[in-house]
Amino acid sequence: MKQHISIVGGGLAGSFLGLRLVLAGHAVTLFDEQVSSSASRVAAGLFNVITGRYGAKSWQAELLLEEIRAFFGQEACRELQQHLHYVPIYRPFRQVSEYNKWVGRSADPAYAGLVRLAERPVLEGGIHNELGGIFILPCGWADTRALLKHTHQLIGQYGGRVVPEPLTYSRISIEKKIIETDSGNLPFDQIVFCEGYQAINNPFFPGLKVIPNKGDLLLIEAETLNLPFVLSRKVFVIPLGEHRYLAGSTYENDCTEAKPSAAARAEICYYLDAALKVPYRVLDQRAGIRPTTPNRRPIVGTHPQWPWVHLLNGLGTKGMLLAPYCSRLLAQRIGGQAVSIPPEAGLDRFWQK
Ligand SMILES: Cc1cc2nc3c(=O)[nH]c(=O)nc-3n(C[C@H](O)[C@H](O)[C@H](O)COP(=O)(O)OP(=O)(O)OC[C@H]3O[C@@H](n4cnc5c(N)ncnc54)[C@H](O)[C@@H]3O)c2cc1C
Repeated sequence: MKQHISIVGGGLAGSFLGLRLVLAGHAVTLFDEQVSSSASRVAAGLFNVITGRYGAKSWQAELLLEEIRAFFGQEACRELQQHLHYVPIYRPFRQVSEYNKWVGRSADPAYAGLVRLAERPVLEGGIHNELGGIFILPCGWADTRALLKHTHQLIGQYGGRVVPEPLTYSRISIEKKIIETDSGNLPFDQIVFCEGYQAINNPFFPGLKVIPNKGDLLLIEAETLNLPFVLSRKVFVIPLGEHRYLAGSTYENDCTEAKPSAAARAEICYYLDAALKVPYRVLDQRAGIRPTTPNRRPIVGTHPQWPWVHLLNGLGTKGMLLAPYCSRLLAQRIGGQAVSIPPEAGLDRFWQK
């Protein structure tokens, strides 16, 4: 049955959900204050399942990769694939113990198809990797800014409406299911909040714990570097073409000011100097605020008191990896299907004693 669904926030979370819902035949209105410093517009867009200092396999790694393929593989979404770049990620070893660990892991069936060991240095003239490294294979990055713009266009093309304005909470009458807009009242059957870190101001979910985490990125140029992969050595270096690279990022908890900082730039350059053997120059810097959570899991669920009110948030450092999966779960629930949301990613965890 066709429903009127309003979505507040059009980053990766709200936009992928909005697209799924219009494709399922619903009437979607997506409110998005399109600030250029929103996390989804700043993000480097990496989708990588081996992350962190210890190179741990991500939560639900194989499932999340499959969800990306399935989402962008749908007939209506295929044109979005032009914004995705499937390239391996290379993590040079910094200690012999890392080499030993990965020799073991590369033979472990749990890592089959995910990694390939490089026992000898690669690209020796350009990067420090004297001990070799590990290639992470089914990964890549997305131009999230272009991807979002295109997703909004598709939502419009399939009959939805994107309102490029902020929606203040006082204009939402949750119990009457009405949004007051300048052009009159907009009734809804269901409403979904996807405001990223700005959910800290959401009055309808007072127990929610979203931790704003600021990140900075640099756009650099390195004329003598020809990276055919994403380099990941304390910072990542993503090849954009024409000797330009995106390098980052930094992590600063509880910061809500998306202003590039000199300290963040110095930190990224410090690690770049340790990773690269060639000169580079910084062309630009940008910053955004990630919506993270205490257990580093997304938040997907329905309000305990109002079953027509939902939330999709907490994508943290992995918006590209998590948004296709989380938006599917919520779209199916909104469509009336019985969906099992992993408890560690559920909204209920904020209300359980
Ligand atoms: C420097 C940096 C690097 C990153 N790199 C990566 C990476 O490589 N890979 C990866 O997967 N992730 C990365 N991320 C994380 C990723 O950006 C986030 O996980 C993801 O973008 C969060 O998406 P979201 O839609 O939940 O929130 P957001 O992107 O914050 O989107 C929320 C949207 O809602 C709008 N909004 C909020 N309140 C309202 C309102 N009341 N009315 C209307 N609109 C509203 C905002 O303006 C915004 O457009 C990075 C983030 C940063 C900052």
